[in-house]
Amino acid sequence: MNAALDRAIAAYLGLAIGDALGATVEFMTPREIAAQYKVHDTLRGGGWLNLKRGQVTDDTTMALALGDAILAHGRVLALPAAQAFDAWMRAKPVDIGNTVRRGLLRFRETGQTEMLECEHAAGNGAAMRVLPAVLATLNQPEEVVRLACRTQAHITHNNPLSDAGTECLALMVRDAIGGADKVRLLHERAHPLARLHTEFTFRAVRQQANPSGYIADTVVAVFQALFDTDDLETCLVDVVNRGGDADTTGAIAGMLAGALYGLSAIPERWLNALDPAIRKACEEQAEALVRLT
Ligand code: MG
Ligand code: MG
Repeated sequence: MNAALDRAIAAYLGLAIGDALGATVEFMTPREIAAQYKVHDTLRGGGWLNLKRGQVTDDTTMALALGDAILAHGRVLALPAAQAFDAWMRAKPVDIGNTVRRGLLRFRETGQTEMLECEHAAGNGAAMRVLPAVLATLNQPEEVVRLACRTQAHITHNNPLSDAGTECLALMVRDAIGGADKVRLLHERAHPLARLHTEFTFRAVRQQANPSGYIADTVVAVFQALFDTDDLETCLVDVVNRGGDADTTGAIAGMLAGALYGLSAIPERWLNALDPAIRKACEEQAEALVRLT
């Protein structure tokens, strides 16, 4: 397997594992997590959704729905993506964000695949599912990647901060799959994002605990965990033990760390505990999406 494919598959598995790991402690505070688990570092299920061990949530299943739509048409198109998300919602997912629900109900009513710009749509729901759009545009110019991100994002989230955060994360994943190291991601992507939108400043902020579903809270927690650690396992354990929207910070951090560190960095115990059908879907989809470009 070539190095880029290895890292693309690792990004998808990292997303799913981060989601499954974080979901156990979603909406808990760091203090509650510490009281219950000391350090939460095992795929054990449970949490407020009462999940099975290794089960994932909307973060992973929306990404897989988007990936299927991209593969069916060979590229990122708004209408098939919106239809795939709508079918996903009809299948009664274990959880769903408010902005996602609002957008998909509007799509059902009007057939519109782009929400109006909205200041209340700065949640992390477009960022958490962006990976298949990145994998489908790996070798394309930056503007094509950004457009693919926005096309899928605006179905439910049309907001400048959501766009900026989502596109930055997407380009970081793309750079890392292409061989960029952490220092390059920091200087060429994370710092410029924070200079452009100060909401994403992550160095002056003390450790972001209880990150909310607000895109800036999510990205700050993920950046701190990613740039202050040197391997996938430590990064994921760091970010999910901050609690809050832990399945989504876990999913996004897992996607980035997987792209950076590759398959060999994913602990066997996590891979083996991940829902086998989800593991297979992530592996197959990553490979098929990369082959598109
Ligand atoms: Mg979730
Ligand atoms: Mg969440």
